[in-house]
Amino acid sequence: MSTQETGERNELMALLNGMIVVNRPDRWVWQGAKENVFSVKDVKKFLEKRKDYTNRYFMEWCNWVPKKCNVFVWRAAIDRIPTKGALKNRNCWNGDTSHALCGEGSETTKHIFCECEIFARVWHFISCWSKSAPFFVFDVSDILELYKQQGRGKTEAMVIKGIIITSVVLARCSGK
Ligand SMILES: [Zn+2]
Repeated sequence: MSTQETGERNELMALLNGMIVVNRPDRWVWQGAKENVFSVKDVKKFLEKRKDYTNRYFMEWCNWVPKKCNVFVWRAAIDRIPTKGALKNRNCWNGDTSHALCGEGSETTKHIFCECEIFARVWHFISCWSKSAPFFVFDVSDILELYKQQGRGKTEAMVIKGIIITSVVLARCSGK
């Protein structure tokens, strides 16, 4: 017996140490529930508890703009829109990746919505128009938080949110 086999045998014996062997037919037991009764609901709970949602971005939708605008902004917030930079990273684009509007920087989600001077002005105008406190945009989600400032009524906040979402969509469409 080789040393590896000896080690495996010792490991097996350590696992079996303390086990009680009963003379009865083998059976399957579901240990994911209190009663040891199998159910799809318990399987789903078991699988869900292992997932980590802490890094996910949750966006509150605005019902005053079309659903496709909400979806687009949500995708932008999690950096899942087809920019030239993203396409190049996936070997789907081999042309110039500079942003068509400003001609500076690689066209990435971050550049379009956070770094581009043209859209920095747009966010500034929206901020001034909505009488919001000055803010800095480091991420698309920062833009979406603009409407949450204190002292706003529910309707006013929803209008500002709708304008922001529409502006994000237009910002992308105008750069194509
Ligand atoms: Zn730009």
